[in-house]
Amino acid sequence: MGAVLEIRNLHVNVEDKPILKGVNLIVKQGESHALMGPNGSGKSTLANVLLGHPAYQVTGGQLIFDGIDLLELEPDERSRLGLFLAFQYPVAIPGVTLANFLRQAINSRMKAVDPESKGISIPEFRRLLKAKMDYLHMDHSFAGRYLNEGFSGGEKKRAEVLQMATLEPKIAILDETDSGLDIDALRIVSEGVEKLKGPNLGVLVITHYQRILNYIKPQQVHIMFEGQIVENGGPDLALKLEEHGYDWIRARHA
Ligand code: ADP
Ligand code: MG
Repeated sequence: MGAVLEIRNLHVNVEDKPILKGVNLIVKQGESHALMGPNGSGKSTLANVLLGHPAYQVTGGQLIFDGIDLLELEPDERSRLGLFLAFQYPVAIPGVTLANFLRQAINSRMKAVDPESKGISIPEFRRLLKAKMDYLHMDHSFAGRYLNEGFSGGEKKRAEVLQMATLEPKIAILDETDSGLDIDALRIVSEGVEKLKGPNLGVLVITHYQRILNYIKPQQVHIMFEGQIVENGGPDLALKLEEHGYDWIRARHA
C-alpha cells in the first residue's frame, strides 16, 4: 500500500492569531490534488506547517504520514520519510550549483539511512541527473548554474521540479506564489508534475489561480476559505470556480 498523508482537524495559530481552523485532508501516493482558495485563506500556512516551519503553532489536530506523527519530526526528518515541499520563495545560494545542491541532498538522505554510506558517486550522479533532465526536457547547462541566483520565476519552478524528480518523494506539496505567479511558471510546474505523476507520487498543488485545469489535471480539488476546506470535488469544482470566481465561495460560506 502506498504512503498516506493525513491532515486531521488541524488548528494553527500565527502570532497567537488563529489561521487554520480545523483542516481535514487526505493525500495518497498516486493521487493528484489541487488546493485552491482566495488570497489569505491559509493555503501557504498549511504548506508551512507541513514543512515544520517554527513560526506556526499547531494548537490542535494531527499530521500523520505513513502512520508517523509528523509534528514530532524536524523538517529534514519529514523530507527523509518521502515528503517533498517546494519552497514558495526559494532562497538563492550563490556559489552552490543546482547539481551540487541536488547531490548533497541525495547524499544526506543516503547517510541518514546508512551512516557508513559514502553517498552517490559523481559518475552515478551525473547519469542520474542527465536522465532526469532529459526526461523533463531541460537544458543540461541549467544544473551548472548557482542555485536560484538570478533565476526567473519560471527557472525557479524548473529547479523545484528537478529537485522533485531527483529526490523521488512519495508525496509532494507545491505551493505557488500568488503574487508573482505567472502563466509561464504555472505551465512549467504543471508539465513537470504531469510527467512525474504516477503510482509512486502523490501531489498537492496549492494555487490561487483559477484556470489551473488548463495546465494540470488534478483528480481532486479542494477549496480553502477562512482557514477551512469548505468544498471538495473533482475537476468540475475548479471549472465552477473559473466560471463564478471566489465570490461564489464567499457567498456560500461567509
Ligand atoms: P494564502 O496562502 O491562502 O494566501 P496565507 O496562509 O499566506 O494565505 O495567510 C493566511 C493568513 O495568515 C493571512 O491573514 C496572513 O496575513 C497570515 N499569516 C500567514 N503567515 C504569516 C506570518 N508568518 N506572520 C504573520 N501572519 C501570517
Ligand atoms: Mg500563499
